[in-house]
Amino acid sequence: MSYGDKNIFSIPTVYKGIEMRSKLETKVALFLDALKIKWEYEPKTFLLSNGIPYKPDFYLSEAKQWIEVKGVVGKNNHGISELFVKDTQQELILISSEAVWFYELFGEPGEVWGQDGLQVGKCSSCGNYFFTGPYGIFSCRNCGTHEGDHDIFALLQNLSWDDEINFSCIKSIKSWLKRYKVKV
Ligand SMILES: [Zn+2]
Repeated sequence: MSYGDKNIFSIPTVYKGIEMRSKLETKVALFLDALKIKWEYEPKTFLLSNGIPYKPDFYLSEAKQWIEVKGVVGKNNHGISELFVKDTQQELILISSEAVWFYELFGEPGEVWGQDGLQVGKCSSCGNYFFTGPYGIFSCRNCGTHEGDHDIFALLQNLSWDDEINFSCIKSIKSWLKRYKVKV
């Protein structure tokens, strides 16, 4: 269980033979698969600089980003996300059933910026989809190509995973992606 997780109502669900801690996590896995983004489930536990072990839910190996999925996000989840990015120098996407935040290193050296929202881009150089925040650094997280913000076509600000997008099945994900003109 992830640090700070108090969601006792999570129901384990199996996806691709992997037992995940909640249905929300399997929806995220479906979403990543629809975008053909490679992921690993809970591959590593980090010892944060405050001495507390922390295991994010997903690792996107090509983009070197992490995803934490929460039913409800509390204040401590933001603190943990910030510390994780500071300690590991890698980006973290925090997803709840109601919103999403993108944590990256931005500004002064060592400074972490947690943005409200998430964007999906498609890189014209490597052809892969990637995540960025709505502001900040827009370069492809897979190959590093920077094309300004032209490749960012889907603004998922304050993405609501339950209402705005019904991730109950792959079909609903595809219809949502179609709405944002993502080819799957
Ligand atoms: Zn690229």
